Amino acid sequence: MSVTIKSTREIELMRESGRLLTIVHEELGKAIKPGITTFEINRLAEEMIRSFGCEPNFLNYNGFPASICASVNDEVVHGIPSKKRILKEGDIISIDTGMIYKGYHSDAARTHAVGEISKEARQLIEVTKQSFFEGIKYAKEGNHLYDISAAIGKYAESFGYGVVRDLVGHGIGTAMHEDPQIPNFAQKRRGVRLQAGMTLAIEPMINIGRPEVAWLDDDWTVVTEDGTLSAHYENTILITEGEPEILTLSK
Ligand code: MG
Repeated sequence: MSVTIKSTREIELMRESGRLLTIVHEELGKAIKPGITTFEINRLAEEMIRSFGCEPNFLNYNGFPASICASVNDEVVHGIPSKKRILKEGDIISIDTGMIYKGYHSDAARTHAVGEISKEARQLIEVTKQSFFEGIKYAKEGNHLYDISAAIGKYAESFGYGVVRDLVGHGIGTAMHEDPQIPNFAQKRRGVRLQAGMTLAIEPMINIGRPEVAWLDDDWTVVTEDGTLSAHYENTILITEGEPEILTLSK
């Protein structure tokens, strides 16, 4: 396994890729309301990404047919946007998307409420987001990669939630998926030692119920096996000698 260390120039390009992706996510968040289709959200995303002179990195990735993954309720990740999928009051939806700016990838996900949602759903979204922040407390040079993984898993499991094990975060740079893989739960080993200049996509996927997932017949959509709600939160981050820099959040 080889983990790339980005140069100062590459970091600048990653920052810009992340900054633009942040804008896309903020705009998509405003568009999410009862009655909109996931097809329309995808259209907005692709249009915005291209308006920045960037390429959607999800589109055609291993044949994926859209620029975002739109995963509703018990869908964990990789939901395919559709004209038939109309969001309704009380749904939760995770939007995962990314882009390529001058050859450099960014990747981030948010889970949104559609109108008023249950207290249980609200807590799941908040804990999933917070588990990312618990994890990145350990994201600094000299620590081990799996310190991040363990902190994410421990936090989410303290709420009785299931931490998805079949899907993981990843390094990112000139490819969307680079080494290393980044699980969201404790490992027996310690993982690579973190170094300044690594760029990582950290992405907890958390279920209200059990951690097991299944794939639908479209071979993309991942759902919770027990049918409970699932949330996803992801940012691309830069490892430094101090606090990590989150490249896909506005400062
Ligand atoms: Mg990712």
